[in-house]
Amino acid sequence: MSAVRRFPSRMSGGVYFGPADWRAKTWAIAPTPIPQTAAAGVTAINNRDTLLALVRRVGLGKTDRVTPALADQLELLGQRPVRLLVLNLLPSQPESALAAALTDLALAHLRAGLTLLDMALRAKQQLVAVDRHDQRTVKIWRDLAPGHNLGVKALLGKYPLAHPLVLLRVLCRRSVLNYAAPAAAGLLVVDPVTCWALGRAAAGEARFTHRPVQVVVQGLEPVLAMARIGEPLRDLFTRLGFPTADMECIAGGMLSGQLVNPADAVIEPHTDVLALRPSPRPEPSADCIGCGWCVQACPTGLNPAAILAEAGMHAAMPLAHLYEAVGCIDCGLCTYLCPSRLPLAATIGNIKRSLTAIPAAQAAPAPSSLSAQESI
Ligand code: SF4
Ligand code: SF4
Repeated sequence: MSAVRRFPSRMSGGVYFGPADWRAKTWAIAPTPIPQTAAAGVTAINNRDTLLALVRRVGLGKTDRVTPALADQLELLGQRPVRLLVLNLLPSQPESALAAALTDLALAHLRAGLTLLDMALRAKQQLVAVDRHDQRTVKIWRDLAPGHNLGVKALLGKYPLAHPLVLLRVLCRRSVLNYAAPAAAGLLVVDPVTCWALGRAAAGEARFTHRPVQVVVQGLEPVLAMARIGEPLRDLFTRLGFPTADMECIAGGMLSGQLVNPADAVIEPHTDVLALRPSPRPEPSADCIGCGWCVQACPTGLNPAAILAEAGMHAAMPLAHLYEAVGCIDCGLCTYLCPSRLPLAATIGNIKRSLTAIPAAQAAPAPSSLSAQESI
């Protein structure tokens, strides 16, 4: 039987899309042969229970901002057939310098992790969505694909570098309201670091104590560094020789990230990008002009203008719109688009955090040695 892969062909040029009939546009089922080239140890992982046991042993936490931890996803999915989607891919820059820095060993472990997921899940479809403007990254995945039955969907130029849930919405052409939605739709979403950590653990029993983090400092070449989970950001910047005085630090990407204090914040299992830039002068805001752009852009259907207005008028007495803030995914699109430069995302994020308990960062075990080869 020939393997036919189909993915919704009419991709959105942004975050808007048409009918919510994506379920009807069934992703074609591709036969999934069990690869014979798995790395040592991977061949033992041939069903979900053993995969789940390995995930727990590795200590994989939440490695992406799209979904719960992989173990939680597997339990939510149970024994249902799944589609495997790899999102938010190899850390890279448009000029590809960082993708080029990935070592053969890191790629081998990434390949092993994909093999492992393929074998254990026998997924109906494996799809890699390349969200960066980077042809080299696409090529790396296409090079990996033939042996792994992976489809590669390049979204180059079709995705504003925002929250991964926005990308997921673009891919699925429907609203994705919360972190449980992918699993509810039979979709297992992982990031490449999860694949890499699984493959590395299967080959050598290493726990997930370090992860690659892209560090972008304004005016300098970006760096891809191996950081210990739990490591204070200030220590990482010092180790890399980046000054933090008079700089502001953004974790998670320039558009959808959060301002953090390097003295307090630590590397978390899902920390993928850190940016340092000179502290900007506050930009003056104007009154809301009611253009509605923030409402149209919000991928979770909120009314950012109304939330901001209620926050200003009734700060001491939260109203209905304020409670909507809990659904905010911190994508930053509303702030990005607002012509009046209103601090929508920051305000709504603060409201959300005041209404919900945020789990404390999970500290990592003591650092373990990584092989010099593994450093990237
Ligand atoms: S309110 Fe703004 S930051 Fe929150 S999800 Fe909507 S567009 Fe994104
Ligand atoms: S984008 Fe800004 S100006 Fe336009 S409705 Fe939203 S808050 Fe008001």
